[in-house]
Amino acid sequence: ATPTAVMVGTGLGARLGILIRGAEPLELAKDVTCVVFDKTGVGIMNHTLTRGDMSVKDVILLSDPMSEDSSSVAEALYFSACAEQGSEHPIAKAILAKAAEYGFGKGLNRELHEADHFEAEVGKGVKCTVDDVTVHIGNRRSLATNDIQIAPGTFDAMERLEDRGQTAVVVSLNGRTNAVLGIMDQAKDEATLTVNVLQQLYGIKVHMLTGDNIRTAKSVANFIGIPVTNVKADVLPAEKVDYIRQLRLQGEHVAMVGDGINDSPALAEADVGIAIGSGTQIAHEAAGVVLVNSKLTDLLVAIDLAKTIYFRIK
Ligand code: ADP
Ligand code: MG
Repeated sequence: ATPTAVMVGTGLGARLGILIRGAEPLELAKDVTCVVFDKTGVGIMNHTLTRGDMSVKDVILLSDPMSEDSSSVAEALYFSACAEQGSEHPIAKAILAKAAEYGFGKGLNRELHEADHFEAEVGKGVKCTVDDVTVHIGNRRSLATNDIQIAPGTFDAMERLEDRGQTAVVVSLNGRTNAVLGIMDQAKDEATLTVNVLQQLYGIKVHMLTGDNIRTAKSVANFIGIPVTNVKADVLPAEKVDYIRQLRLQGEHVAMVGDGINDSPALAEADVGIAIGSGTQIAHEAAGVVLVNSKLTDLLVAIDLAKTIYFRIK
């Protein structure tokens, strides 16, 4: 590769908001046979396939007939919002927005109580104490590892929401499931187009990895046009790394499109790590390419640029 051609390529990329770290990612990008997407991201700017402007669509209460206190939707939302104040996940933003509709939040009818012992558990959810109430919010894995008592109807409620394409997160108070929240996300308008061009025009295989559950993941994949056989759900960050290693062992040249702190090991494992957005420093260090404008179609521009530059060099 002539240094001049690479300079022209990276220079042009930079002007288009596509940061390419030198000759190596550019050269590897032209040979990509397989693109792996992370479904959702952490942080406002960093969503990959989905828009990340999630909202709480449904709240299902798991009332306990044996219990004295009648739990209410408002109570579940109040404790959830207090707990999610410390989380950056789009799910947290959705819960805080829903609680605000009920008058809970800064400057509203009822201020949120500060959470103690807050902990975000990667790929699971959050836990903390709010005004002496232990609060857990998360998925099945969070229920299992925190030894939460499952009220009757919990899993039924989750499945009902997931079959509607929502992400079900469970709110547990004092170690027992209390309510299930159905969180709705929407595929990015350009996701379908990008995946289509990758598959049809370039013959590149497209895969999707997500920490979300398989029902919701399949509904998103169907909508976007990713074969459901290429979807892996319920994965932890370390398992994303394994998945990419596996593809590489099968001879694929893999580009991983991800974001956030959690995805940086997977970005580093891929032949080309592609980060979306300008948010998270750590992910960017693991990425050979950064799509600064958070536009998924810039992925197509990046691959096209790489192919063009290396075609001209020959
Ligand atoms: P992905 O980026 O692939 O969607 P994450 O690892 O960010 O996966 O999250 C995986 C799952 O963990 C979510 O679908 C949700 O069930 C749970 N989770 C993560 N963060 C939170 C949070 N702040 N509140 C509730 N649930 C969460
Ligand atoms: Mg993520």
